[in-house]
Amino acid sequence: MTQPLIDPFARPISYLRVSVTDRCDFRCVYCMAENMTFLPKKELLTLEELDRMCSTFIRLGVQKLRITGGEPLVRKGIMTFFERMGRHLRSGALQELTLTTNGSQLTRFAEDLAACGVRRINVSLDTLDDAKFAAVTRWGKLPQVLAGIEAAQAAGLRVKINAVALKGFNEDELFTLQDWCAARDMDLTFIEVMPMGDLGNEDRLDQYWPLRDLRARLDERFTLVDLAERSGGPARYVRIEQTGQKIGFITPLTHNFCESCNRVRLTCTGELYMCLGQEDMADLRAPLRASPDDAPLEAAIRAAIARKPKGHDFDYSRQRVEGQVSRHMSHTGG
Ligand code: SAM
Ligand code: SF4
Repeated sequence: MTQPLIDPFARPISYLRVSVTDRCDFRCVYCMAENMTFLPKKELLTLEELDRMCSTFIRLGVQKLRITGGEPLVRKGIMTFFERMGRHLRSGALQELTLTTNGSQLTRFAEDLAACGVRRINVSLDTLDDAKFAAVTRWGKLPQVLAGIEAAQAAGLRVKINAVALKGFNEDELFTLQDWCAARDMDLTFIEVMPMGDLGNEDRLDQYWPLRDLRARLDERFTLVDLAERSGGPARYVRIEQTGQKIGFITPLTHNFCESCNRVRLTCTGELYMCLGQEDMADLRAPLRASPDDAPLEAAIRAAIARKPKGHDFDYSRQRVEGQVSRHMSHTGG
């Protein structure tokens, strides 16, 4: 029998996040520079290689697959990949196939995604104001994303909204966002801005709105009930008693979530990052391309998991961005 993936700290690795492209149709200020140079196509794993890679992880015990990017839905032919992953859902090997998207392409793809077995998606949306949306995404159009969210719900997909908490930007929209989501039966998760990459134009400390402050503001208006639910990641959840709505807080900087970490991240070039906050990675593309036999790939995955570190080094506490890693979120897929 195949041995499952267990890291040196006895954490089973059951969750793989896969970035399928470094490209995007938006240029969110906290994520990308305006002028990005993207990777040449030959560097990317082909859709067939992505299938082989993910299928190997699933064989080794990964039960949850989240597709991300860049913007996953701008990758040409990506629906073929989703269709192929559907076979692992049908066999029961994969429990969940899901995606994080900026929502811009959902009017085109929501029904296909549902047909492939996707049940829940995360849509990133930081503001409900047209002008602010255009400012934060640089290239995005709010009505297109709102239409996408509607299409997703109409196709039967459960939508969770992810909003990056940005000081002086969406602080004033806390209750507007929460109300808007509650009216549409959508859960809402706030993400603390992370020191990813050097975008040159932003001082990350200036944007930092600690989620404990955000939570305190929600607490003034509502009764928040802590939920025991753990995703194995940096999210913690509460339920708003008055609306029944689930609110998540992703606080990689102020809370230590590493002890229950069950995940690894694969980039679109086949690099496996064992920790979001560390530079160490394993090249899985070379063993994948070296042989049609999966044995060398499997060995490389096991060797990488054996190096998964205990935790990350992010720290804002000394008012310097400590432990900053140089790659962008669009590279490791957030
Ligand atoms: N393009 C898709 C999207 O926007 O949902 C998927 C990729 S995006 C990199 C994944 C998530 O990372 C988004 O929710 C985005 O807001 C978040 N993100 C990007 N840069 C970030 C940063 N510096 N700090 C915190 N979250 C960030
Ligand atoms: Fe694109 Fe998502 Fe990054 Fe925004 S956060 S630039 S939508 S990859």
